[in-house]
Amino acid sequence: MSTVNKLCNLCNHNPAFYRREYEGVNLCKKCFKESVERKVRRTISRWKMLAPHDHVAVAVSGGKDSLTLLIILKKLTARFLRTRLTAVTVDEGIAGYREEAVEIASDYCQKLEVDHEILSFKEVYGYGLDDFLRQKRERMTACSYCGVFRRKAINLGARKVGATKIATGHNLDDVLQTYLLNLFQGDVERFVRFNPVLSDPRGRFLTRVKPLCEVPEREVALYGYLEGLRFQTASCPYMTEALRNELRTILNRLEIAHPGVLFSSYKAMLKLRNLAEPGVPPSNLQSCENCGEPTSGKVCEACKMVGVTPERLEVPA
Ligand code: SF4
Ligand code: ZN
Ligand code: ZN
Repeated sequence: MSTVNKLCNLCNHNPAFYRREYEGVNLCKKCFKESVERKVRRTISRWKMLAPHDHVAVAVSGGKDSLTLLIILKKLTARFLRTRLTAVTVDEGIAGYREEAVEIASDYCQKLEVDHEILSFKEVYGYGLDDFLRQKRERMTACSYCGVFRRKAINLGARKVGATKIATGHNLDDVLQTYLLNLFQGDVERFVRFNPVLSDPRGRFLTRVKPLCEVPEREVALYGYLEGLRFQTASCPYMTEALRNELRTILNRLEIAHPGVLFSSYKAMLKLRNLAEPGVPPSNLQSCENCGEPTSGKVCEACKMVGVTPERLEVPA
C-alpha cells in the first residue's frame, strides 16, 4: 500500500514514508527510527542481554547490520555511564573486499567516538583467508573456514579489550534462517543450542548477544539508510551459502505475501527450541587444550583447521 499523502499513525503529524505491513501502520522517518530503537531496547531487556556495567565488544564487519547495531547501541547506552562499547573488526584477508569494509568501520567508529580494535587473520593464524585457501588441499567451502576463524578472532579481540559481552548484528531474517537451516540439515542439537543469547553457565566464555534479532533485515537497512550509512559496494568473492540465499529469497517472498510471517515463525522456533531443549544433552563446552577457546572436544575447530592435531596438540611440520 502506498504511503503517499498519508500521515504517520504514531505522531499523526508528519507525513508517512514507510508502511509497516506486519503491524498495519504508516510511519514517518522519526517515528520509524524511534520504533526500531524501542524494539532493540525491549529485546535487550526481555532477554537480559546487557547490564549497566557491561563492556560490550560489538562485532563490526563494516556491513549495514553491524554498523546499525553500533549506532543503536551507542544511542541506547548513552545514559548508562558505566557501559562501555568497543568495536571489534576482523580483517579476514580477502583481497579487494575487506579493505573497504574495514575503512568504513574505522570511519564510523571515529564519528561515533567508539574505541576500535582491528584484528587480522594474518596476525591470529599466520595467514589471511586468500593465502590459507591457496595452500589448503582438502577443501571445505571458504565460508566454513572463515566463519570458524572469525568467531575465534572476535573472541580474542573481545578478551584483548577486556569486554564482558559480545554483541553481533544478526537480524530477524538471519536468526530465522539459522533456525531453519539447522532443521533442514537435521541438526537438532545445533537447533537447540542456537539462541539470541548464548552464554556459558559456568561463566568461562564471553556471552554473545544479538540485540537486532527481532528487527527485520529490511528495517535494519532502512534505519542505516536514514542514518546516512555508507554501504560497502563489493561483495565477498567467496559467497557460496547457496541454501541460506535460497531460503532468504523464499522468506522474503513469503513476508511480502503474508506480512508478519517472519516474526511468527521466529516465535515458533523459540517455542520449539524450548520444547526440544530437555531432550538434548548440555553442550559440555570446555577450553581448547591448545588455545583456550570454547570447544566440545579437546581441540577447537579453528585449531584443527590450522593443523593442530588432538593427539599431539601441536602443529605438524
Ligand atoms: Fe567469509 Fe564467506 Fe562471509 Fe566471505 S561470504 S566474509 S568467506 S563468511
Ligand atoms: Zn511520526
Ligand atoms: Zn583452539
